[in-house]
Amino acid sequence: MGLVNRDDLNGKVVKLEALQPSGRWQVTCEKSGESILIKPANLHTFSDALGYGTTARNPRDTPMKDLPCNGCGEVGGNNKACVGCRIAIYCSKECQTKHWPDHKVFCKQAKKNQELDAQDLSALDIYHKGVAAAQRRGQEREAIDFYRASIVKDPFLFVAVANLASMLRRVGDNEGALTVLLDAVRRGAEAPQSAVAYEPRAFYIVHETLGNAFMSNHDVQRAMASYRQAMKIAEALRLREPGAYIQMGACYDLLGDHAASLRTKRENAERFPGAYICHYNLGCELRTQQPMAFDTAAASFRKALTLSDGRRDADVHAMLGVTLLDEAVVRRSSPADAIACFEEALRRDRHHPAAQRDLQKAKAYAMVADHSGLNL
Ligand SMILES: [Zn+2]
Ligand SMILES: [Zn+2]
Repeated sequence: MGLVNRDDLNGKVVKLEALQPSGRWQVTCEKSGESILIKPANLHTFSDALGYGTTARNPRDTPMKDLPCNGCGEVGGNNKACVGCRIAIYCSKECQTKHWPDHKVFCKQAKKNQELDAQDLSALDIYHKGVAAAQRRGQEREAIDFYRASIVKDPFLFVAVANLASMLRRVGDNEGALTVLLDAVRRGAEAPQSAVAYEPRAFYIVHETLGNAFMSNHDVQRAMASYRQAMKIAEALRLREPGAYIQMGACYDLLGDHAASLRTKRENAERFPGAYICHYNLGCELRTQQPMAFDTAAASFRKALTLSDGRRDADVHAMLGVTLLDEAVVRRSSPADAIACFEEALRRDRHHPAAQRDLQKAKAYAMVADHSGLNL
């Protein structure tokens, strides 16, 4: 039901309840308490983080002068529609200028949605425009607009939700990302079948990204709840996604729960034997918690190296080097293997600070050991 047949609703204040699978908002009329579905284009007056407003109207059917100004609420002969979105109404330049900070996100998005509607593009088409923009440097805002527009068309296009949230986080809008993700998670909980219809993995990613957004806010408890939910989805859909499991280990670290941290990292290395990062994390945890267990930590780092993750190989060689150096000092044996590791790390990243420092340490130890007559 649009507003074409509901002139009585024009200009009425409504409360947004939930975005429906159809792309329409379920709203409650403030005065009558009536609950109806309205297209986003038929809502105006920005006041909500999602960019939709709270006054119902049919822009085509009501004479402009009968619509209240979005700035001051005045109804009168001079009221004109915003030239950007053609939805917001203003009585004067002053009211428009004053309202602009609240209106600009909605205005841009409404204009974009109208253009895309005119081109008759599907939600997926619009999403792909977003992906293309995201790949071009300096077009992050453009990508964000396309992703938002595709979600308005199809609120269950969770792959767009995940990309939108990541892009918002990348431009520093973590709160915006949280809003978008929480909204999607709520929709997903209401209609889990629709949530996994396009790409099951996207539903998982939305929960993992939500956890990351909570982590950015130092809200570890809520982050863990999101990661747990992501893990549940991964298990139900049989997805091999290590992200949420790995983040769980990081959460226990932040909480100072060492036992849970080690347990989680052990489980992760077993659950994802092909994931380089799980073995590296387990090795680091073993180094911290069981500093004398050289062999088990070294085995984890060696395993990580067989799975190589180019960019971070230098870190693993450096960590393996430190493990071997500590072992050499304790056992009063030769640090030659440790030195080889640091040199390997520096070959991959010649400015690696830890490898540079520890290589000097290992060489100094070799020299001292030599002078003091240790049988190396
Ligand atoms: Zn006004
Ligand atoms: Zn506007």
